[in-house]
Amino acid sequence: MLQPFSNIIKSQKFLQNISLSIFIKPKKHFSIKIEKKNEKENPKKLKEFDLVVIGGGSGGLAASQEAAKFGAKVALLDFVETTPHGSNWGIGGTCVNVGCIPKKLFHFSSQIKELMDFSESYGWNFDKSSLKMDWKTLVGNVQDHIHSLNWGYKTKLRDKNISYFNALGKFKTNHIIELNKRNYEKEEIYGDKIIIATGGKPRYPSISGSKFCITSDDLFSLKKPPGKTLIIGASYIALETAGFLKSFGYDTTVMVRSQILRKFDQQIANLIQKNMEKKGIKFMINTTVKNIEKQKENYEVTFCEHDLKHQKLENFETVISAIGRDPRTFGLNLEKIGVSMNKKGKIIHENEQTNIKNIYAIGDVLETDYELTPVAIMQGKLLAQRLFSNLKTKMDYSLIPTTVFTPLEYGFVGLSEEDAIKKYKQENIEVYHSFITPLEFTVPHVGENETYLKVICNKLENEKIIGIHYLGPNAGEIIQGFAVAIKIGLTKNQLTSSVGIHPTCAENFTTLDITKRSGENPKKTGC
Ligand code: FAD
Ligand code: NDP
Repeated sequence: MLQPFSNIIKSQKFLQNISLSIFIKPKKHFSIKIEKKNEKENPKKLKEFDLVVIGGGSGGLAASQEAAKFGAKVALLDFVETTPHGSNWGIGGTCVNVGCIPKKLFHFSSQIKELMDFSESYGWNFDKSSLKMDWKTLVGNVQDHIHSLNWGYKTKLRDKNISYFNALGKFKTNHIIELNKRNYEKEEIYGDKIIIATGGKPRYPSISGSKFCITSDDLFSLKKPPGKTLIIGASYIALETAGFLKSFGYDTTVMVRSQILRKFDQQIANLIQKNMEKKGIKFMINTTVKNIEKQKENYEVTFCEHDLKHQKLENFETVISAIGRDPRTFGLNLEKIGVSMNKKGKIIHENEQTNIKNIYAIGDVLETDYELTPVAIMQGKLLAQRLFSNLKTKMDYSLIPTTVFTPLEYGFVGLSEEDAIKKYKQENIEVYHSFITPLEFTVPHVGENETYLKVICNKLENEKIIGIHYLGPNAGEIIQGFAVAIKIGLTKNQLTSSVGIHPTCAENFTTLDITKRSGENPKKTGC
């Protein structure tokens, strides 16, 4: 519906120097702000865009499409640099190519294996000894799906009249972007507004032999099965990866320099570790890697436990670095144009605007507490609306839900118990909790009382829920709904006066009545 308007705008040069408002329906007011341009800024008469987005990942795609929806003339650049191990991929960024999407599919494959492990008790009879992970098939099919997504994004951009450049961008001035294209050609374009959405890159340990580590950028397209694997790191990526690799049958060790999921609720982190150990995943706690050497068939890893002086050695076929990610701000010339960054290279912002007037940033590149796809998408969408329409909603960084896709998934929103105590004091919070056994686990007698629910309430505010935690099957699906309720101020009383859905795990939230303070046994028996 907006298309004809934007075409008119494009075809009528004189409109480019004025501010334009378009009324489409009586109630909807769309406005395209094209500010008076300083002619000196584009003396070479470069191709001009209302918006140039650098980076075609979760945030960049969302921002560019939203801006185009409001009639802006948009250019989107995306360029993937080949990893040291030769991996490369298409448009869509980390989430689509080397993050959320392949990770969730590998995780699902591991869940299929888990179901097969206890399928006999549900009447399925098959020869378990022939069960084997065909790595090549898994990688091939997941990559096929990713390629279809890459194709879909390109088609969408074309349909929305967004100019897509497969080019590495860097700033020449605060309005001019130099494009270095895949075919080594160069071009410069002019952007009235620029959004930096270049995401992050996996970090490698600063040790000799770190070049032998692969990362999540390589894992999901690895040509041969990883075999015996060491994963360095103890947060989202390390634990999720350990979960699926072990279930595929590979010997898996996680090297933890401090504690697992250090920034998360520690009671639940401990439960996750116990559950993973039960599945045969090994943990080296308080241990750091010192050196990696290539041997004929594998890698010799030297490591050191903190309380012991002497070093130890062990050989692994694959070493994965999962020690966090660095913002992809290098090489953009940000220092030259004066964009402020913190010590880690993350862009400092106020409502996603940098210290330079026409330059914005979204996603993992931004200084926030979150590196999550829905956060990047929401930032991009709202920013584009604020820039190109009269909608003015700002990004709300409170109560952002998340899920760690460990074998027993962990989803939560709000505060951990530790943070709740720190913020409100022990006496002002009430913690309700319960261990349950999902009905599906009762027939094969697995996972008895391993699923855990915890609700943290603020007693000073009528037991308003300030944290909700769930460790168990389908955590992401369950927590998503509660995240909405908590955002609009759910109290414990409202939660427990809601009718449950039977028989589910989530219904147990509506019947929570044991407080930690009471010391009562939170393990549930019976239906
Ligand atoms: P990205 O998606 O990284 O996109 C940035 C794009 O810009 C890339 O394509 C990059 O190549 C390109 N680029 C960089 N520099 C330039 C340049 N100079 N010129 C042109 N292009 C450039 N989040 C979740 O919410 N749920 C999950 O389950 C989840 N799982 C994950 C699993 C893994 C293994 C990883 C690594 C991440 C996961 N994440 C998950 C995080 C999520 O992927 C990121 O938060 C999200 O992709 C960030 O989006 P972005 O737009 O900021 O950057
Ligand atoms: P994180 O930044 O979450 O955690 C880094 C981990 O590596 C910590 O355990 C940290 O230990 C450890 N570490 C850091 N430096 C070293 C070092 N030099 N040697 C040994 N260990 C080290 O990183 P991830 O790589 O797991 O994930 C990156 C981001 O991607 C996450 O922040 C998350 O937002 C996103 N993501 C989201 C997922 C989801 O939503 N399900 C899944 C995967 C990724 P310590 O605690 O001691 O500092």
